[in-house]
Amino acid sequence: MCGIFGVIGHKEAAILTYLGIQGLQHRGQESAGIAVLSGGKLNVKTGMGQVREVFSLEEIKKFEGTVAIGHVRYSTSGTSSLANAQPLYATTSKGEVALGHNGNLVNAHFLRQKLIKEGAILTGSSDSELILHLIARSTAPSMEDAIIDSLSEIQGAFSLLFLFKDKILAVRDPYGFRPLFLGKVENSFCFSSETAAIELIKGKVIKELMPGEVVIATKKNYKSIQWKKTKEHYFCIFEYVYFARPDSVLYNIPVSLSRINMGKRLAQEGKTKADIVIPVPDSGIFAAMGYSEESKIPLSFALIRSHYIGRTFIQPFQSIRDFGVRLKLSPISSIIKGKRIILVDDSIVRGTTMRQIVNLLKNAGAKEIHVKISCPPTRFPCYYGIDTPTSEELIAYNKNVEEVCEFIGATSLQYLSKEAMEKSVDLEKKWFCTACWDGDYPVLPLSSKQQRLFSLKKQ
Ligand code: AMP
Repeated sequence: MCGIFGVIGHKEAAILTYLGIQGLQHRGQESAGIAVLSGGKLNVKTGMGQVREVFSLEEIKKFEGTVAIGHVRYSTSGTSSLANAQPLYATTSKGEVALGHNGNLVNAHFLRQKLIKEGAILTGSSDSELILHLIARSTAPSMEDAIIDSLSEIQGAFSLLFLFKDKILAVRDPYGFRPLFLGKVENSFCFSSETAAIELIKGKVIKELMPGEVVIATKKNYKSIQWKKTKEHYFCIFEYVYFARPDSVLYNIPVSLSRINMGKRLAQEGKTKADIVIPVPDSGIFAAMGYSEESKIPLSFALIRSHYIGRTFIQPFQSIRDFGVRLKLSPISSIIKGKRIILVDDSIVRGTTMRQIVNLLKNAGAKEIHVKISCPPTRFPCYYGIDTPTSEELIAYNKNVEEVCEFIGATSLQYLSKEAMEKSVDLEKKWFCTACWDGDYPVLPLSSKQQRLFSLKKQ
């Protein structure tokens, strides 16, 4: 769960990057950072918190330079600390380099042990730092070659932006787990995890990097190399379900449309008599639109979200998380009282949020609450960059649908089938990673802890 953004060849590269990472803020809120190349020197600033907490506009204006990359982070690998905030930075025999990484390396554990044995001094606990060490140790003559050289040693999910010597080098891993786009803003190039952030700075999308593609952009032009070819691509379908912004387009499919389709298919897969469809804002809005359209049951925004409270999920402690739901959502009793309700959300993870929302609606006088979830039961952890807890903490891991329904206190509970979810996205090829629902991990995680989890899953 991270967002990366970069601009090359623009006199306001840092300001555009500052805006770009704000447009990607939903992908991570723990830390933010920007690296700018100015007069051949790299300046990097990182800090804990959201982009606007880390940088004042005044400060950003002073960040001069025509090349910049930025990063927002939610820790999926490594602890939440300033040492792990990105862009990371290193001076090597091939020059200075800054790195922004979205995704998780599955062989990080082994690489870490190997590098430490060889004498590496590691300052943080994130997997991204290991990439810089591999580059520094490469015997390839140039930075560009050293980066490409090091790619063959890393495995898992990685969309990367490197900034060095008036260049940005962008990489998407061979399976294409995480998105990455190349765009144009005025006469300059930009890179972004999502299209919405390119549009935010009034840029145009040139192309989505394909799995295994490397794009090297200078101020004047860019070149693309197919660094590695793989027959099977595994794009994370959860980006469509929940994670990406609804105004982004991934693989030419608008995220909003895929969510509307998921809602329509939910309505097709299970007919339920009800008076109103209520979305859980914001995550359930588009699926609820689809559900309402298909079922002809009117849509009603009877849950109001306070936009001044952060994501409930992101709170580190259960006690705060519980409290957060109540702070974040309030029901409109005059609409809810006495009604049979279809309540639509994207996913149930631990079940805490949905249990509280159902309770809120009950207290507001709902007669029946039928919960509709626009993806299958989340049963397995993600090793490719989405923050999901261990299987044991996932409510659907040890409980069947009836038991989850009982736990959340709803009248009924329906999940979208995997097949319908995939059809809702409607890609020509079935190019998805669906591991969090079926446990089919395309690339195996290799740490001993993760292996233990695997054997648990197989039991
Ligand atoms: P929970 O209380 O753990 O069941 O949280 C479920 C809610 O968190 C759902 O409403 C989702 O919209 C949201 N959610 C699902 N996955 C994630 C994630 N990886 N990070 C943040 N929020 C999530």
